[in-house]
Amino acid sequence: MEDCIFCKIAKGDIPCEKIYEDEEILAFLDIAPVNIGHTLVIPKKHFKNIYETPDDTSAKMMLVAKKISTAIKALPSDGVNITMNNDPAAGQVVFHSHIHIIPRLENDGFGIWSSKRSYEEGEGEETARKITQGL
Ligand code: 5GP
Ligand code: ZN
Repeated sequence: MEDCIFCKIAKGDIPCEKIYEDEEILAFLDIAPVNIGHTLVIPKKHFKNIYETPDDTSAKMMLVAKKISTAIKALPSDGVNITMNNDPAAGQVVFHSHIHIIPRLENDGFGIWSSKRSYEEGEGEETARKITQGL
């Protein structure tokens, strides 16, 4: 897709620090890492987000994410977060489907959940019902 930065990276028009590549998937270092080794896994074809990415492509992205998460143990890292931002409210800035692999260090201060809440009486049950209806 024209004007998509990750399509340009996938085509080789913009350079990246490549971590993994096969016919369908590319992984490279995030230009602005949360921690050293922060890696992005993308499909080479343009899909906007998780909703538009075909299931088999999503599955391949996750397999690559697992492979890289294991290899990342070569770096100083005490754990890893695997995240995907979908739509602006969830923090998606680049609208080409991607998974973040974020190496974590003890006490690195990076908080994924700034706050957590609890359910009111019956609210959890109602919420589960709404979600499962859509499956
Ligand atoms: P999002 O917020 O959309 O989930 O994450 C997009 C990520 O892409 C950000 O973490 C940002 O640092 C990274 N990014 C944006 N532009 C480039 C780029 O040109 N090269 C690389 N390697 N990463 C980029
Ligand atoms: Zn794209």
